[in-house]
Amino acid sequence: MVYLTEPERLGELLEGEPSFRTNQLREWAYVHPVLSTDAMTNLPTDVRAKLADQHWPFVVELEQSTASRDTVKWLFRCPDGAPIETVLMGYKNRTTLCVSSQVGCAMGCTFCATGQFGFDRHLDAGEIAAQVAYANAYLAASPIEHSPDRVTNVVFMGMGEPLANYRHTIEAIRRMVETMGMSARSITVSTVGFVPGMKKLAEEPWPLSLAVSLHSTIPAERSLLVPLNDRYPIDMVVDAAREYYEAKGRRISLEWTLIAGENDSDEEAVGLARIARQIHAHVNVIALNPTPLSTDTAPDHDTIRRFIGTLSREGANVTLRDTRGQEIDAACGQLRLRAESM
Ligand code: SAH
Ligand code: SF4
Repeated sequence: MVYLTEPERLGELLEGEPSFRTNQLREWAYVHPVLSTDAMTNLPTDVRAKLADQHWPFVVELEQSTASRDTVKWLFRCPDGAPIETVLMGYKNRTTLCVSSQVGCAMGCTFCATGQFGFDRHLDAGEIAAQVAYANAYLAASPIEHSPDRVTNVVFMGMGEPLANYRHTIEAIRRMVETMGMSARSITVSTVGFVPGMKKLAEEPWPLSLAVSLHSTIPAERSLLVPLNDRYPIDMVVDAAREYYEAKGRRISLEWTLIAGENDSDEEAVGLARIARQIHAHVNVIALNPTPLSTDTAPDHDTIRRFIGTLSREGANVTLRDTRGQEIDAACGQLRLRAESM
């Protein structure tokens, strides 16, 4: 099922209409999206009605919207019942959309709510691109105060492992770059270390940003947190990250979810700093957000400070990421709606 028609095939929705209408529809779908066909003012009313009959512009239904001051979480429902969760975050100079690439995730990371609830299905390119189009339509009507009224950045940090759904992820990115006019640099693909996908991504034409979720540098410990480490061990992941950096000249981000007693030791900080130096990467540390099926907790404030301090002292560039959206269950790792709400 496709929820935002491929830009090249929009004409099929407009049978019998002159071809310039296809361009008009492309503008409404991708460039200046609107929430309702009523707003597609340059299209004749019968054409608008026909599109509305086909559930245009968004075949997905908005089921729930939860907002705090500068963060909005949406739950969309697909006609087959699959839920899609998307989070919009306003900052001073950017508006970032956190998109889902799958319903659930098969990677099974122990500390992640999406992983805890397992895998349902891939999202298709239309379902991924529609999240961005919807956010742009929403922002045009209700901008977040002090933030750009358009999505400036997309991060694939919602539900799913984007590189395990490679074809649809890339097609969605193509639409964002070629049709929505986004800059590839402002799109970040986040992976837990799906090495074949990292290698393919290095061959794509766009200078996309790449985030690699490491969480541990000690192989046995990493395998406990990230089962995929048994298939693609950390050394392979780091090599693939280095290759990406060399191919694109784009600095990689290394993501590290800090968990009390698991990966918050000095030994881990020193190991992480060494890798970051070797591949000229930036380190993003985020304290664990609590999840329903795990008793893991975030380290206390002093431990977090010490970990960050060791990283800096060892020569790593590091940022402590905020836990934006926690109060509305929209923070990293908290997206999980799956079977329990179907
Ligand atoms: N599957 C991809 C992208 C989605 S997860 C990946 O793993 O990179 C997006 C980010 O959220 C990852 O960096 C992941 O490590 C982080 N994350 C997952 N669960 C978390 C939690 N409970 N608290 C904080 N961050 C979490
Ligand atoms: Fe999947 Fe990423 Fe969660 Fe791991 S952290 S289970 S790869 S979504």
